[in-house]
Amino acid sequence: MSLLSLPVATLGTPRIGPRRELKLALESYWAGKSSEQQLLEDAAGLRAANWARQKSIGVTVIPSNDFSLYDQVLDTSVMVGAIPEIYASKSELVSLKTYFAMARGSQVDDQDATCGDQPCGVGAPAQEMTKWFDTNYHYMVPEFHTGQTFRLCSRKPIEEYEEAKALGFQTRPVLIGPVTFLKLGKSPDPAFQPLSLLDELIPVYIEVLQELAQRGANWVQFDEPCLVLDLDEGMRKSLRHAYDRLAKEGPAIKIMVASYFGDLGDNLHTALSLPVAGLHLDLVRAPQLLDQIIAGGRSDLVMSLGVVDGRNVWRSNLSSLRQRLEPVIAKLGKDRVQIAPSCSLLHVPVDVGLETGLASDVKSWLAFAVQKMRELAILARALAGDQNVAPALAESECAATVRQTSPKIRDANVAVRMKAIDQTMRRRASPFARRAEIQSNRFGLPPFPTTTIGSFPQTTEVRNARAAHARGAMSDEQYDRFLKEETARAVHWQEDIGLDVLVHGEFERNDMVQYFGEHLAGFAFTRNGWVQSYGSRCVRPPILFGDVVRSKPITVGWWCYAQSLTRKPMKAMLTGPVTILNWSFVRDDIPRSEVCRQIALAIRDEVRDLENAGATMIQIDEAALREGLPLRRSEWTAYLDWAVDCFRICSSGVADQTQIHTHMCYSEFNDIIGAIAAMDADVISIETSRSKMELLDAFRNYEYPNQIGPGVYDIHSPRVPEMGEMKELMALARTRLHDSQLWINPDCGLKTRKWEEVRPALANMVAAARELRASF
Ligand code: GLN
Ligand code: ZN
Repeated sequence: MSLLSLPVATLGTPRIGPRRELKLALESYWAGKSSEQQLLEDAAGLRAANWARQKSIGVTVIPSNDFSLYDQVLDTSVMVGAIPEIYASKSELVSLKTYFAMARGSQVDDQDATCGDQPCGVGAPAQEMTKWFDTNYHYMVPEFHTGQTFRLCSRKPIEEYEEAKALGFQTRPVLIGPVTFLKLGKSPDPAFQPLSLLDELIPVYIEVLQELAQRGANWVQFDEPCLVLDLDEGMRKSLRHAYDRLAKEGPAIKIMVASYFGDLGDNLHTALSLPVAGLHLDLVRAPQLLDQIIAGGRSDLVMSLGVVDGRNVWRSNLSSLRQRLEPVIAKLGKDRVQIAPSCSLLHVPVDVGLETGLASDVKSWLAFAVQKMRELAILARALAGDQNVAPALAESECAATVRQTSPKIRDANVAVRMKAIDQTMRRRASPFARRAEIQSNRFGLPPFPTTTIGSFPQTTEVRNARAAHARGAMSDEQYDRFLKEETARAVHWQEDIGLDVLVHGEFERNDMVQYFGEHLAGFAFTRNGWVQSYGSRCVRPPILFGDVVRSKPITVGWWCYAQSLTRKPMKAMLTGPVTILNWSFVRDDIPRSEVCRQIALAIRDEVRDLENAGATMIQIDEAALREGLPLRRSEWTAYLDWAVDCFRICSSGVADQTQIHTHMCYSEFNDIIGAIAAMDADVISIETSRSKMELLDAFRNYEYPNQIGPGVYDIHSPRVPEMGEMKELMALARTRLHDSQLWINPDCGLKTRKWEEVRPALANMVAAARELRASF
């Protein structure tokens, strides 16, 4: 470390590799093409490169054990021996086979399936997976049972510490804190409280700490992001109890408790009362924490200041950060401060330097993990008084000014339209009951109309054609002809099997968000901007940098073509504004709600153009609306208000006779049913097949009036459902909702399935509808 610097931490780094090397290594191993030995060597190579890079950039608090072959929560389950019996391994330490069985099930045959960025695992009993706080990263949910005991079953944190040490890197091992770990877990017995296992669990952590201390570690990082959630008094007590015990019974090793993804709020006092050496704060999401901490922190508590955004891709203004932090450092003293990103850099892509296709100005506004590390290093030197970094600070400030004033991010017409949004734009002409009558007369659909959610199988041929077109090996005309043929085949087939409302199949779309982003101004796309979603799977979120403008219709041509092939209603297919927003890296210079309204205006134009072209049914997917919910309940209403508002803006510009559909694939509606109702879509399709229609209780209890298509076909599985099963599911739906409300459809789009599965499954679905009608 240069003398003129403060400690620089990263908290954690992307582990997939600059070119997704880990993905390749894993998938080759899973496919049986390479050995375990090879996989472990590749992984070690990635870790070594990662440590070396951090050191060369000037990171001084380098993490270890932030790497994972699959998921850090799964690593923790394995470390403490929380291994459900079905995976039980007989050896003392857990084998890689057991580990991957927990991650992926033991007989997965469909490892490439995804649904949006959601996993679509198959049959085998992989552990449940769910979103890591409000990120798009998914972790494996720990499973606990009554009488659960823990023992050290994986020495990974110790081994990785030693591995780094042997290479000459002193590291700060990262562990998921015991309270967050238990809180993330579940139990087959819903009455069982995982937190009651805390005292069982602590000794394993102490054992790990002892081993680390013996080997020379002087700090460890305990991630406790649960500190930013709504906690009850019991949870807070558990936090204090856990760290009291670690302090009393553990070795002399310093613990940095890391909170991130938000404000500490009413947990502030708890966080400050923990008997630990350091506390990390997310000062990007909660800048106000800084003053509170200075006022309330113990005089020897080391503060890790998370000032560079670990959740977004924008370059920092280091000059203004320095100004803000200088007085803080003066108050706290240099030896009480570490400079860090707001959270682990896991959630941003690796290196802007690898991008060759970005406009140079947009590129100069971006910072991925490598650039963020450099920013931290420069800032830490500036704050320590190193004059040599002055040019770098000036450059950073300059880039910020250029971005702020760039004509590229602002469009005068958008500002005018945003101001002009009024109440009439947010409301359909008539209430639902009236619209339903008009639409029923117009469409004359049978009871329990059948439809699908939009996409049909993205076969190898479809993907190959897209790739060939992208690299110029297929001309525009050839590609267009190919897509038309695919579409025509899908349309005719839907007619043949007797579906009531058809779709064009979405063959022309790479991804439901990217496709729209590519047709709107304000979005940029990376070549290598991959972020881990789960396991080996990565996503490349669009970068939404400027005002959103739709200069011409996007989907109208495809819709017209598809409708020209049939007399049945062809449902037009759009992605909603909230989903586009939530699956992108979004500009941070204006509120998200405003960005979302801009997208809503663009989609509204598309909706109206579709209607003018003759579309009678238009579906606006909001697959990601629920996952945008803030971590704190108190912020839900504000989010839902603008999210619903955006949906209404984009969907209300049509006549009563035009039927607006929406689609959401979630498993929970209870707490947002009011918002769903406020969206006022004529028809909503949802994912229900796995929940035995219990999910419809929320709709029944709310007396939800509009129409609903509860999914009767689990599209996450290659299994073809029988007609009888689908009839049974519909019978369950009918106990909860009126027949006149019900549609029949799959849970979600079929892009990840094979035609061999889709053909019989949908034929069974149509047959189920026919039988239902016959008994009507
Ligand atoms: N219309 C999209 C499709 O069918 C919806 C996908 C989704 O909800 N994730 O693929
Ligand atoms: Zn879906």
